[in-house]
Amino acid sequence: MARIIDGKAIAAGIREQIKAETAELKKSGVTPGLAVVLVGEDPASRVYVSMKEKACAEAGIFSDEHKLSADTSEAQLLALIDQLNRDERIDGILVQLPLPGHINETRVLEAISPLKDVDGFHPYNVGRLATGNPLFQPCTPYGIMKMLEHVGADLTGKDVVVVGRSNIVGKPVALMCLAKHATVTLCHSRTRDLAAKVRAADVVIAAVGRPEMVKGDWIKEGAVVIDVGINRVGEKKLVGDVEYEAAAQRAGAITPVPGGVGPMTIAMLLQNTLESAQRRARR
Ligand code: NDP
Repeated sequence: MARIIDGKAIAAGIREQIKAETAELKKSGVTPGLAVVLVGEDPASRVYVSMKEKACAEAGIFSDEHKLSADTSEAQLLALIDQLNRDERIDGILVQLPLPGHINETRVLEAISPLKDVDGFHPYNVGRLATGNPLFQPCTPYGIMKMLEHVGADLTGKDVVVVGRSNIVGKPVALMCLAKHATVTLCHSRTRDLAAKVRAADVVIAAVGRPEMVKGDWIKEGAVVIDVGINRVGEKKLVGDVEYEAAAQRAGAITPVPGGVGPMTIAMLLQNTLESAQRRARR
């Protein structure tokens, strides 16, 4: 049976470390600050935002909440971002997605100062990641890399297969694995013979959003499996993108869903905010 990569425990350790470093930074007069902007009433977004606020409070990070009504105009939102860009107490700005349909998401994300872009979605930060000189790394892929580090996975020369090419998970995690000297295959909905690609992989990272689409018998004996997917089946059950039970029989290490990648994302958001505040303290 595979070793279970306990994201909850790894994230808790990282959050403890962040709390200690935040306390240390405060002694020099700098309190890390994260602005969280929510537009509208989307229930899932409200849950995510309150989780982020709670995590900030636990770590000693100042969180500046902006809950705007669904009819907020793009100009009003851009004006708020401009104000937060200039606010010296704020080290990170997070605009919770998705935004209401009348607001241009790209325009909003590009209005955030790249120096406060804790989600790492601004083209400046995407470019820095792609050129091997990252400033802010997107939280979920950053968390995946921390988990791989935690299990001592040396990616040098390894075959990594990433399933899913989104801008928030698949593409950036592929770049991060490349930077760790892996040979990376980035798969998507038009990939031919996905099973064969996965069968050859030393590390499989699944970020598709389809329940258990990566079959257990595709996993090479001893491979490391990172399952990013969060899929609701039925009323209460959550499953990943990987057929967990069968994959765990073959994998060397595997992340569960829930309790795997999920908890890492918020931990890395705090980490990005702290790193930004540490840079402010050095300026
Ligand atoms: P997207 O929907 O943006 O991207 C899904 C990707 O999967 C696309 O690149 C798509 O290909 C590919 N895909 C779809 N069907 C297939 C298929 N049959 N075979 C191969 N590839 C396929 O998803 P996200 O990256 O945003 O999220 C992926 C999953 O991860 C979701 O379940 C999401 O909930 C979860 N997630 C979890 C997070 C966490 O904190 N744990 C954070 C972010 C996401 P194509 O490009 O060709 O359409």
